[in-house]
Amino acid sequence: SSAHVIVVGGGFGGATAARYLKRGDPSLKVTLIEPATTFYTCPFTNLYLAGLRRFEQQGHGFDDLRAAGIEVIHDLATAVDSQAKTVTLAKGQKLSYDKLLLSPGIDFRWNTLEGYDQAASLLAPHAWKAGDQTRLLKSQLDAMPNGGTFIMVAPENPFRCPPGPYERASMVAHYFKQHKPKSKILILDAKDGFSKQGLFQDGWKQVYGDMIEWVPFSKDGKVARVDAVKLSVETEFGEIHKADVLNVIPPQKAGAIAEQAGVTNASGWVPIDPHTFESEQVKDIYVVGDATIASPMPKSGFSANTQAKLAAASIINALSGKPAPQATLSNTCYSLIAPDYGISVGHLYAFADDKLAEASGGVSPKEASPAFRKQEAQYGEAWYAAISRDIWG
Ligand code: FAD
Repeated sequence: SSAHVIVVGGGFGGATAARYLKRGDPSLKVTLIEPATTFYTCPFTNLYLAGLRRFEQQGHGFDDLRAAGIEVIHDLATAVDSQAKTVTLAKGQKLSYDKLLLSPGIDFRWNTLEGYDQAASLLAPHAWKAGDQTRLLKSQLDAMPNGGTFIMVAPENPFRCPPGPYERASMVAHYFKQHKPKSKILILDAKDGFSKQGLFQDGWKQVYGDMIEWVPFSKDGKVARVDAVKLSVETEFGEIHKADVLNVIPPQKAGAIAEQAGVTNASGWVPIDPHTFESEQVKDIYVVGDATIASPMPKSGFSANTQAKLAAASIINALSGKPAPQATLSNTCYSLIAPDYGISVGHLYAFADDKLAEASGGVSPKEASPAFRKQEAQYGEAWYAAISRDIWG
């Protein structure tokens, strides 16, 4: 065919989709729109905060996707017209599509948490998109005195990377243990539970003693307002906590272009048909990754990668008049508690009553030898290398 598929977003979901569209049907014209010439992954930036990796190690370019025959345009998509089937770019170009795939990731709901807007994030970084924010948080941790307090504000569900805040706390604790052992970590959480909680808490106790304190919602963990200038936060019941370094992970929603394209619902996220990842609201627009409502799949890079492969196959079949492919979806999230202490959660997903459901899987065992935990740390590293090569080459 000479059909044209436009992919918006060169992160986990979008770059995977572009590659697998072209691989699945080399006659397709595939255009990938992504403003960044180097994409920095969020995965493994927590290890950068720990001092275990350089920031640049998380960077991936687009030359290999170009070599695969994909046209990569470094620009921002500013508008989608789903009637005319066009995408407009910031520099003025207008492109027509037969099928459109969006994987724009997340945007932040600025000011939903009082006092936390974009300006505040320059003082109290979120570091929940990889880039300047991540480097800012690292430089603040480097400048913090021994004996200081690192406060993390953790969001309600759903959000990008459910175990991410707790891996970050672990990696900051590793850094403190090496360089600033008198320091404290306080996690103020809007929830009463979190991913791999038992494993994290056992690991924290074992490796870091009482350095990390987690305050759940029901113990007044929910932060109501942020004062980024004073680096302080106030909880719902009025307690004020003062930080030396303040990391606020704010409430989130689908990347803005999804709303512009008309595929989001009142929740701010995108309802999709989980058999194909086509939008439930707008025909010929497919959406994958963090932007979607794909629960019980978590918002992870791994999820985005498998969803993108399914969406690519669905698009290819739809363009050639074939029925939708059989959906096979899976996820594994590795987290590091210490350099040689890894844990994981993984699931296969299947359809039950036509809804996506966890079919099999689980978390790492509660009791395990140091050798087992070390092996899981190595699996995590191997996963990162493998998925990076799969996506960006
Ligand atoms: P992204 O990967 O963010 O890609 C979105 C892309 O779209 C961006 O490059 C953006 O520039 C582009 N874009 C947005 N709007 C437009 C537009 N209008 N026009 C053009 N381009 C646009 N996941 C794991 O699986 N394992 C992990 O270990 C892991 N660790 C994490 C650790 C941290 C600290 C964080 C924050 C996240 C982690 N994640 C992990 C989650 C993972 O980063 C996300 O789930 C994943 O990036 C989602 O992929 P995506 O394609 O939806 O979005």
